[in-house]
Amino acid sequence: MITAQIPEIKTLLSTPKNCVIVPHKNPDGDAMGSTLALYHYLKIYNHNAVVIAPNDYPDFLKWLPDNDSVLIFDTNQEACEALIEDADLLFTLDFNAFHRAGDGLGNAMETSKAIKLMIDHHQQPDDYATYMYSDVSMSSTCEMVYNFIEMLGDLDKIDAAIATCLYVGIMTDTGSFRFPATTSRTHQVIGDLIEKGANNSEIHNNIYDTNSYSRLQLLGKAMQNLKVIPELKTAYITLSQDELDEYHFKKGDTEGFVNYALSLKGIVFAAIFIENKQEDIIKVSLRSKGDFSVNEFSRAHFNGGGHTNAAGGRSESDLKTTIDKFISILPQYKQQLSQ
Ligand code: 5GP
Ligand code: MN
Repeated sequence: MITAQIPEIKTLLSTPKNCVIVPHKNPDGDAMGSTLALYHYLKIYNHNAVVIAPNDYPDFLKWLPDNDSVLIFDTNQEACEALIEDADLLFTLDFNAFHRAGDGLGNAMETSKAIKLMIDHHQQPDDYATYMYSDVSMSSTCEMVYNFIEMLGDLDKIDAAIATCLYVGIMTDTGSFRFPATTSRTHQVIGDLIEKGANNSEIHNNIYDTNSYSRLQLLGKAMQNLKVIPELKTAYITLSQDELDEYHFKKGDTEGFVNYALSLKGIVFAAIFIENKQEDIIKVSLRSKGDFSVNEFSRAHFNGGGHTNAAGGRSESDLKTTIDKFISILPQYKQQLSQ
């Protein structure tokens, strides 16, 4: 357990180190918020810190403090590999298996000699980290980074930049403080972050009120494509590459669409299937209410994973075959879904 290792970590951090901080592929608010928060924290101690994101992420995350310092592995592979080669400390945040950072970056981390430190709240962590702070009950990795800073006795070091980054991840991963993992402690942390300079109203605005007209049209299309299977309390959405193209799809545009399916009265399982012709896959996002584990469902059928109530995965078949498969396996879960 990490608490027993805190003195060792403090010793490690007592002299400047080369620190590489990595979020998962297709980084979301929690991934970018937690990595940039840790980056700002390490900078206070004069560490040579850098965030390396596996690939690009949505524009609505690009205003975070020092976002410009983030390196993208996909488009800057050599420089990123050199930094990983030279790293003393490698922090993996908001994921728990190297492949979740993509093949190239995953391999670079796997062969790296750096001391590895994991902070993450996903299920079934791999065993690669010397220092592992893994807790699936946590709302977000950002709440855990706050706890980590607290364990290091440094809550007073949290400045407006750190507070802003942490606020973003807690807000986005809790669906604005409404998912079940949101605890009174989460709200206490959020209260403290506001006191330390996070501007809550401005942050909500920067993340959620940046819709383009075409994104709202795409949402309209997604809602037209929404299908319901009432006897299995399931709803799902499809978006083909042609539909994405028609509405000028940009990264992040489909974020949150699946939640509309889950908001239907009586629905406990929601899915969205998004065609990606470039990668030749169907990206699958799964959400549930209650005990039905979409983590297990995704691991069993869609080569993915995540949390009990939010998971992702992929299919290598075409869109129609993928939907047919989804519909054909659902009845196996009839009992769980109708509880
Ligand atoms: P989303 O559906 O928003 O992409 O992801 C939902 C949750 O599942 C996130 O916490 C994300 O990190 C996780 N997740 C998404 N895709 C995958 C995947 O392919 N494998 C695993 N293990 N987790 C995933
Ligand atoms: Mn997260």
